[in-house]
Amino acid sequence: MPIMKSSGYNFAFNPEACKSCRGKCCIGDSGYIWVNSDEIVALIEYLKIDEEGFKEKYIRKIGFRYSLKEVEYEGGFACIFFDMEKRCCKVYHLRPNQCKSYPFWEHFKKNQQEVEDECIGIVLL
Ligand code: SF4
Ligand code: SF4
Repeated sequence: MPIMKSSGYNFAFNPEACKSCRGKCCIGDSGYIWVNSDEIVALIEYLKIDEEGFKEKYIRKIGFRYSLKEVEYEGGFACIFFDMEKRCCKVYHLRPNQCKSYPFWEHFKKNQQEVEDECIGIVLL
């Protein structure tokens, strides 16, 4: 896959790095993995689970929004959809937009060092 750029960012992203990274952006410190209603519906259909069961197992309500749940492991927290053995996302094709848009998050425009420290795919421009 080609190197990706996005307007307003002083870095690019090399998706090839994900092959050797082992999913660092899906694990580590606890955080919010926002998921919207369309994304929830798509996941419910894919997982063939009822809405209540999905909400109970996979998401938590934060104010008016939902975040994917996390599971605790020795080194921190992992997204509920992260496969710790295969080191990949179990719902990659349906991952929320927050995951798809990483590392081009507004937050990293002013906090670039954070993403440089986390993601080995960052290419400085
Ligand atoms: S931290 Fe960066 S290189 Fe690693 S899986 Fe996430 S996007 Fe890919
Ligand atoms: S949904 Fe997939 S890509 Fe997004 S944080 Fe969870 S495991 Fe990672």
